[in-house]
Amino acid sequence: MHSNRNPRPLSSEERLRRLLRDVRTCHACPDLPLGPNPVLRAAATARLLVVGQAPGIHVHRTGVPWNDASGRRLRMWLGLAPAEFYDEHLVAIIPMGLCYPGSGPRGDRPPRAECAALWFDRLHALLSRVELTLLIGRHAQRYYLGQRCRVSLTETVRAFREYLPEYLPLPHPSGRNNAWLKANPWFTSMVLPELRHRIRRLAGHGVQDGAAAETEIIDIEGQ
Ligand code: SF4
Repeated sequence: MHSNRNPRPLSSEERLRRLLRDVRTCHACPDLPLGPNPVLRAAATARLLVVGQAPGIHVHRTGVPWNDASGRRLRMWLGLAPAEFYDEHLVAIIPMGLCYPGSGPRGDRPPRAECAALWFDRLHALLSRVELTLLIGRHAQRYYLGQRCRVSLTETVRAFREYLPEYLPLPHPSGRNNAWLKANPWFTSMVLPELRHRIRRLAGHGVQDGAAAETEIIDIEGQ
């Protein structure tokens, strides 16, 4: 009987698909309050990587990342329509914690450290076309920037030019950060235009005008 001694090597896309299948069946954390449900998206062609914190309870239930008010504001910041944002061939979405970590007295718990240790190197190795990684919040900034982080998230975001072209640090787009956004108008006038310029180059189209993003900073308040 003929045996195939030299099977065709798998493409990056196929290897990534297999790895994502493994990640999605990860049960490394037995104490998650709602059980494991890793929420991530990626394709080997992705040019933008979005790294947030960890799924909230709504994202856990729907399995769709950034499927909430924070996600709407993030898409406004980026100038991407939902169809573009959720095109995994353009945008990979891999939060610091892949499963809902549960909540404590001060909101959702921090992302589980196990995810990065178990999966991130292997995922990054198959995302070789990523040109820009958005670091949303201090957990992502600490992991990816390490010692290059400034003393606070505000100062790290203010120093965003130092980390380009590879990384761009951002605050979390949650409505809870409206006070921060109002107290730091340079974010809207300096960081968002640079962000949109870079996204426009990566996506090539579909970017809304900057004024829409600026008004959204106010519109989300209270959500
Ligand atoms: S939180 Fe991360 S390491 Fe833990 S079960 Fe989910 S995917 Fe696995």
